[in-house]
Amino acid sequence: MYFMTYAKPLDQGLKATPGSGRVRRMLPRELISASAIATRVGALAREIDKKLPPGPLTVVGVLRGAFIFMSDLVRLIPREMTCDFLGVRSYGDATVSSGVVEITSDLAAPIAGKHVLLVEDIADTGLTLRYLLDLLHARGPASVHTCVLLSKTAQRTTSIPVDFVGFEAPDAFVVGYGLDAGQIYRNLPYIGVLDVGKG
Ligand code: IMP
Repeated sequence: MYFMTYAKPLDQGLKATPGSGRVRRMLPRELISASAIATRVGALAREIDKKLPPGPLTVVGVLRGAFIFMSDLVRLIPREMTCDFLGVRSYGDATVSSGVVEITSDLAAPIAGKHVLLVEDIADTGLTLRYLLDLLHARGPASVHTCVLLSKTAQRTTSIPVDFVGFEAPDAFVVGYGLDAGQIYRNLPYIGVLDVGKG
């Protein structure tokens, strides 16, 4: 189990194991297990398929955090769709929102007249989702619905319509299943919390 070589916490930086030259990180504490995620993603897919207007769908994933969630989700929505991506940078490598959203790569195709499902990893302050919704609506889609894996409402500073929510999340920095801290931990199969300062 190579994940066992993770040592925490990230904000204390990488720790070289004396003499080994290897870098170790602590394992983030599990918050939502891989099987709970799988069950919830299946239910979300059914809900989305039932509630969205019939016909082809354009699913827009927000990179990089949504890449694992989106890939699991789209395979469970049994209808014609195209998948596109928006590259977004909102936190840099920090763990608090900068409030500044930067588009690092745009959609490959126009969305005018399309039914769009925007898939995001987490809504925290809501600033990123607000910005992306305005951006998409300005391009004349037939409809835009939003789906987030996690919703953290403790720091929400803007009201945003989220149509589909996987889980409510606590006011903590979470990682895994696509979510990162300084680009690390995206490949954890579960969602965990970095217990900063402990261990
Ligand atoms: P917001 O603009 O504050 O809602 O933040 C949105 C983006 O910040 C998300 O798409 C994530 O990429 C990142 N983010 C917010 N909270 C977390 C977290 O707890 N872990 C990892 N990334 C987070």
